[in-house]
Amino acid sequence: MAAGHQVSGVRSERLSAQEIAENFADLHAPFDAHEAAVAADRCYFCFDAPCMTACPTSIDIPQFIREIQGGHAESAAKTILEQNILGGMCARVCPTETLCEEVCVREVAEGKPVEIGRLQRYATDMLMERDVHPFTRATATGKRVAVVGAGPAGLAAAHRLAVHGHEVTVYEAKAKAGGLNEFGIAAYKSTNDFAAREVEWLLQIGGISIEYGRGLGMGLTLEGLRSDFDAVFLSVGLQGVNALRAEGEGKDGVRDAVDFIAELRQAEDLTALPVGRNVVVIGGGMTAVDAAVQSKLLGAENVTIAYRRGRDAMGASRFEQDLAASKGVKLMFNVMPKAIHGNGSAVEIELEYTDVVDGRVTGTGETVRLAADQVMKAIGQTLEGQPEALALEGRKIKVSETGRTSVSGVWAGGDCASGGDDLTVTAVAEGRDAAEDIHASLIG
Ligand SMILES: Cc1cc2nc3c(=O)[nH]c(=O)nc-3n(C[C@H](O)[C@H](O)[C@H](O)COP(=O)(O)OP(=O)(O)OC[C@H]3O[C@@H](n4cnc5c(N)ncnc54)[C@H](O)[C@@H]3O)c2cc1C
Ligand code: SF4
Repeated sequence: MAAGHQVSGVRSERLSAQEIAENFADLHAPFDAHEAAVAADRCYFCFDAPCMTACPTSIDIPQFIREIQGGHAESAAKTILEQNILGGMCARVCPTETLCEEVCVREVAEGKPVEIGRLQRYATDMLMERDVHPFTRATATGKRVAVVGAGPAGLAAAHRLAVHGHEVTVYEAKAKAGGLNEFGIAAYKSTNDFAAREVEWLLQIGGISIEYGRGLGMGLTLEGLRSDFDAVFLSVGLQGVNALRAEGEGKDGVRDAVDFIAELRQAEDLTALPVGRNVVVIGGGMTAVDAAVQSKLLGAENVTIAYRRGRDAMGASRFEQDLAASKGVKLMFNVMPKAIHGNGSAVEIELEYTDVVDGRVTGTGETVRLAADQVMKAIGQTLEGQPEALALEGRKIKVSETGRTSVSGVWAGGDCASGGDDLTVTAVAEGRDAAEDIHASLIG
């Protein structure tokens, strides 16, 4: 094996191209027609179906499963996409184990839910492979709406607005659309460039133009957008990163987990992506799990997730935790970073054990050191650079149930807005609902 890029213990080419291809294959292989029929047959088509209530986009799950059972996958896809235009991505990334599948009556009774996520993927993939776009636009209204940020919330809002006949201009800071679908979701959940293909498919509705490399703080102001457009929808996500507040945070080898994942998602050749021999990921959410698992899949020898509270408080679901463990990631609980040691580059991390008293994390004074040539921070993201005129709730843009902000004519949704739970599916629901409210306000 050739010696790759070398910065302390962080290097590329830890594994061969074939090993990497095997490691990054689809997490849940797609169903074939027979498997889909067998899975659909397990559904009881419940009245007042709990799975549907648990879905943030309220997809009519029994209905689409019945359509698959009847051999009508395309109709099933339309049922899904009417509620959730990114139903293809959500079928891949939704933590179904804590949403629809957790409450499925067959999970409750037998511990084995109907595989709703994989059935949703079967239907939506079938329709997208045939390149069918099952929606058309209403007569043009002459109204123009600006959407800022082309992540799931912005794309869902733009599509719904376009369906209602409005002209939509999307301003996207980056050179590609998709938001975290393109730059954040783990590579083994979104294979074969699915995020980009889904955006292309969504834009077939027409009436949506995307201007790349432009956005708030990049030549545009909220006031300017308000005067140029009939309504504005903000969906800029969370771009800031919390500080670790540990000594030695500035050393080489310490990096933000989201940046590492973005680099990984955009890499043309994953063998060329440098990763540490001993990686420690700080955090307890999906980002921590994704950074840790993907480090291991790139060939890191020892990967540890260090989380400051107990297992049950982890943001990552039990399924995600088990996935990490099954890939050889070690999970450490009740530890927090105290210092990163090394001469210029990280060599070791010192963790302090914690107690949780009345919900607050406190250090016990007892510490442990782990070898760590790479330390990744996955301790949450923050809103950054939002216009001052907007009222905040906590650290997010304050919105009403339908996404109205404190500034008239301006709506917001997705991760940047208050409420919600920072999932792709929630961002889609919020974008769609804000678009409906914008539409109602524009047509009076
Ligand atoms: C590493 C990681 C893994 C995740 N995995 C999952 C998962 O498996 N399942 C799941 O359900 N959720 C997951 N999530 C959460 C999910 O990705 C987000 O909740 C979702 O993407 C939020 O959508 P959004 O549209 O609000 O924001 P984003 O997806 O962040 O999109 C925001 C868009 O706005 C653009 N933008 C930012 N600032 C500006 C500006 N000033 N002007 C113009 N454009 C701007 C950005 O470039 C971006 O395209 C994950 C998150 C992370 C970080
Ligand atoms: S709860 Fe389960 S069995 Fe009932 S409709 Fe939903 S998927 Fe089918």
